[in-house]
Amino acid sequence: MPSVVATNGDSDFAQRSSGVTKFTNCLLAKDNDLVSEDLWVSSTSGKILNGQELLFEHRTAPDQIIDLGGRILSPGLIETQLNGAYGFDFSVIPEGGAAAYGKGVLRVNKSLVATGVTSYLPTMTSQRPEVYHEALQYLGPSGSARDPSYGSESLGAHCEGPFMNPTKNGIHNVAVLRQPTCGISDIADCYGAAHIGQASPIKLITLAPELPGALSSIHALTKSGIKVSIGHSEATYEEAKSAIKVGANMITHLFNAMRPLHHRNPGIFGLLGTPSSSIRKPYFGIIADGIHLHQTSIKIAWNAHPEGLILVTDAMRLAGMPDGIYDWTNGSRIVKQGALLTLEENGKIAGSSIQLVDCVTNFLNWTGASVPEALKAVTETPARMLGLEDVKGTLKEGADADLVVLSLQDGGVGGERKIVVDQVWKFGTKVFDIVSKV
Ligand SMILES: [Zn+2]
Repeated sequence: MPSVVATNGDSDFAQRSSGVTKFTNCLLAKDNDLVSEDLWVSSTSGKILNGQELLFEHRTAPDQIIDLGGRILSPGLIETQLNGAYGFDFSVIPEGGAAAYGKGVLRVNKSLVATGVTSYLPTMTSQRPEVYHEALQYLGPSGSARDPSYGSESLGAHCEGPFMNPTKNGIHNVAVLRQPTCGISDIADCYGAAHIGQASPIKLITLAPELPGALSSIHALTKSGIKVSIGHSEATYEEAKSAIKVGANMITHLFNAMRPLHHRNPGIFGLLGTPSSSIRKPYFGIIADGIHLHQTSIKIAWNAHPEGLILVTDAMRLAGMPDGIYDWTNGSRIVKQGALLTLEENGKIAGSSIQLVDCVTNFLNWTGASVPEALKAVTETPARMLGLEDVKGTLKEGADADLVVLSLQDGGVGGERKIVVDQVWKFGTKVFDIVSKV
């Protein structure tokens, strides 16, 4: 059984509280392996430490040693497409106005962290400019406070639209879609000039590169540090390649809301087959909920470009709610039947209600990936896509001590396995335990 061992005061070691925790008897998810190694973290700095250096050079003993009973210790999960959860929608300003919106975001953060998602991109679907102007100020990176009690941390907003192709709108309201005809100035008008540039609360924008002005916009956005993802798009292979050449580095929910692969026009999917000498192959989001994609499509994409695959939920505010019919934005209604969410008017898939850790379980069982390979798709790979690979999604010294303790359970049927989040640690402090529900 896992246990917590308090260290006693060895006179050789510093007597004062060090804020240091040592995890032992655990398997660290590192690269493509599970490595039997200890991990040291600090709740004071919120970072992963060099245990050897602490012990032998600084003679610092840990405050606590946690025996994980052979379980997996992974970097915390990173979600790059979450539209809402727990009844809150990042795209809707509630009745109470901006203040109520800010409280709603905090409530999501506190609940979300217990699912193992320690950082994420709150995602807005296509909206009118006024909504962005009000909402985005609450969605910027929240890590500067480095307070574990705030729960999951925003790494910045993901604006999915409104610069998308009306023919690939999915559940986005066509009436609010726009074109960036005048390039970055149109983008700034839409999201708010204060929200574009170096200190932007926006981390990622999904847009359709075939729209007029899109390529110059991608160039300007990526120069200013905002990542751009291709999505909700009719782009041909050549148009998609042009977008990568000017700075886009991601594809939003690959296969969904884009042209399917055609043998004479491979479309956006074709980027995964492009030689790396020609362009930098993009990262790509995959919704592994068993509804959006066939298992084989996921396997093909993974085989084509394993280093690019990022699992996302695309979950929305009805996640965790009972089955039924719910009001949606702009007068539409959504039918929820289990995990399946569809628009009442046309039966289109309307996001998902799955948890990210369950996407990892699905991916594991569907592709034959190893556990560390599957975990990479929600840790190291999204961190690299966001340019945060030294801070998030890694157990390297100096990175943030955002961690999950995972159990691997045998599902029985067909030899399927299931990954369960047992504990969550944020900035070196435990914030969730499946036993005590901390
Ligand atoms: Zn979408």
